[in-house]
Parts: sequence; C-alpha cells; structure tokens
Amino acid sequence: MNAAIKTVKLPQLLEKSAKGALRSTKTEDSFSPTEANLPKKSHESFICELKNLAKKFRVPQEDVILIAINSNGANTDLPHDRIRFKLALNGTDKTFYLGLPKKPTSPFYISANEIALSVDGTNIGTALEVENDTCDAIYLRRGRTVLNLNSNSRSRCKGCAFCFDSQTPLDNKRLTAHDAMEEFIETFLKKEAKSDLAHLYQVALVTGCFGSEEATLRHILLVQDVFTKYKFRGELLYFGSQLRSKDSFKKIKDNIQNPALVLSIECFDRRNVLLNKLKSSLTLDGAINLLSLAADNGISATVSYIVGLDSHVSIKAGFEKLDGYFDRFPILNIFQPHKSDQELLRVPGAERLEYYLIARAIFEELFAGKQIKPRTWENYRSLWYFEYAGENLNEQTI
Ligand code: SF4
Repeated sequence: MNAAIKTVKLPQLLEKSAKGALRSTKTEDSFSPTEANLPKKSHESFICELKNLAKKFRVPQEDVILIAINSNGANTDLPHDRIRFKLALNGTDKTFYLGLPKKPTSPFYISANEIALSVDGTNIGTALEVENDTCDAIYLRRGRTVLNLNSNSRSRCKGCAFCFDSQTPLDNKRLTAHDAMEEFIETFLKKEAKSDLAHLYQVALVTGCFGSEEATLRHILLVQDVFTKYKFRGELLYFGSQLRSKDSFKKIKDNIQNPALVLSIECFDRRNVLLNKLKSSLTLDGAINLLSLAADNGISATVSYIVGLDSHVSIKAGFEKLDGYFDRFPILNIFQPHKSDQELLRVPGAERLEYYLIARAIFEELFAGKQIKPRTWENYRSLWYFEYAGENLNEQTI
C-alpha cells in the first residue's frame, strides 16, 4: 500500500469529512455527485453528502458508499476501461465484488491495491485481485458454487445502448455444441479440482441473445443434458427474454429438473431507444404473460431491471403492474455508463446519489410484506449490501 495513503474506518472517515463540510457555505445541490457539479476540490464535501444521505434515508453509511461507488465508477491509472476487484471495506468484515467503469471525474480512485477517495488520498478499503474486467466465458459466485455461463459469446451481441461493447472479449469461442460444452466442463473440473458438478448450486445462463427462440431453447436443453451427465443437480437459470411461447415454457418444465428464469426487462420507458430489437419487442403486458407462463409451469421467476434509466414514477408504476408475477427478488442493477455518451442515457436526476436512495425506498415499500429479499452474492451492482428494509443482510457476498 502507498505509504502516503491514510487508512481509517469508514464511519471515522465520514465523521472527519463532515466536520470540514459543516464549515462550507455550499448548498446541498453543490455537493451532489454529478460530473457537472463535483469538481475535484469538493470531494470532501461529497463524503459529507454521503453521511447526510445515510441519515436522511436511514440506511447504513456503508450501503450509501457502495451505491456511490457503483454509480460513479472509479478513476484509475491502470490501463483498463473497466476494472473488477474485490473490495474489503474498512470497518466491516465483508468483502464485495465490484466491476466499475473507469471514470476520470469520479471521486473514487483505485490503484493496484487500494481504493481511495481521490481528494486527500484517504483509503476507505482494500481492493483485492484488481484486474481488467473482460467479457469472460464464465465466472463464479457464491463461494464458487454458482457458475455464470456466457456460452453464446455475449461480446458479439449488439444493440442495447447501455451495453459495454468495448469490453475485452475472452468469450469468442461459443459453447453451443455438445462437444465444446463437454470440453469446457472437463477443463473447468480440472481447474476447480473437482470430479463432477454435484457441488454447483446454480448454473446461470447469462449470455448474448441467440438468433431465435428455437436456438435459445435448444441451448438451455443442451446445457441441462450435458451438465446432468456430470452430476449437476442444481438450479438451471436462464437470464434473458427470448423464450416467448407456451410451448417453450412447457418444454422447460418437462426437461429441466430445477428451472428458474430472470426475465430481462431492463427498463419501462424508451425501450425502442435503449434496447436491441429482440429485447424491446417485449412489452410490459408481454412480460406479465411470460411470468404467468413461468408460474403455470412451476418455474421460479423474476425480472432484471436497470436502476437509472426511468423516473421514480415509471419505476413505481411498472413494478406495481408486475406485482404478484414474480416469486424471487428482482435483479436491480445500478446503471453504469461506460462511455461519456452513455451518461446521457440516464433519466434526469439519476446522476444524483439521492435518486438511487429514493429508488431503494420505493422498492422496499413495493415489496413490503413479501417473503423476498436481495441475495448479495447474486448482484454486484445492487441497491442493498448490509441492510434491506431495516434488517441485516447476512448472506454470503461473493
Ligand atoms: S442483449 Fe443487450 S445488454 Fe445483453 S449483451 Fe446483447 S447488447 Fe448487451
């Protein structure tokens, strides 16, 4: 660690910064974390803003800071457009996995072994295993028991305005043929020092769009078939929106032992502008129909949604309409612009941290009384890290 970097526990850091900011005559607006009104010299005030927001919204300061990191990205001298790392936040015993776009105007700075607020070099945690965030064929979550499989070369998929299509592709080889999938599993088992796949809790198919519904279904069935030969008995989750017919859902029910669906809705407004044609062709009524089909066929289901593209009014209206049609917590991702022109995709107001905290409160109110809560290992760009609706989140984080 750089000797010039001070290390303090997070609450101390917030306390220290708040004192300085109290002397300031700036208005609250001038402290908001936007590119336009967050000049480098106001980063200390930015920390004060985090503390005030935590108080105002009655959420842990650690949650506010993680939301701020995820929505602001991080500046770095490392030669990566996108950086991934594990963050051990000071003053806590939890480690989080983060993938952040490089953003020179961000108040956060990351080097090879530390993430710090750039204003005064004060360290807020240790960044472990810092690396270029490439588009990989696989990655593991939940203590290496969940396998995210990008078997259809997501880096070649195009068309959604917010997608990070310049991510270094390491997924050129498609795993859509039986032989290629077997070869992949054999290599995976060697690497993981396992004799079979019985230890996997879930395989999540999170990959680029297939050309057709038939190709999507064929691939899901192939994955089940090949993985079963290696004693996989866990949940097979499809993350996408290309299964659209009754027939497909019936085939999933008949052939997949333990199926789950994350229907990629992503946004409610401007769908034709923000999403590629395959995804934008799904209407909200269409999504409700698919979620109903999932329930009719015994498939556990939810939706994925990007927080930062719609107004709070649209979020509330959209999720009120979806109410009752999903049985697990939605994947609610904080919007991360990867390039400067993607900043413009945000709905006005979503450049402010407060937007995300209001959204968090809206979701907690909408889901109150339901037996669902965020699973921290499942979403690295979440609105929740330590607490959900006033209760501690004790799940595994990585
Ligand atoms: S469907 Fe959209 S967001 Fe997903 S990989 Fe393709 S272009 Fe990117």
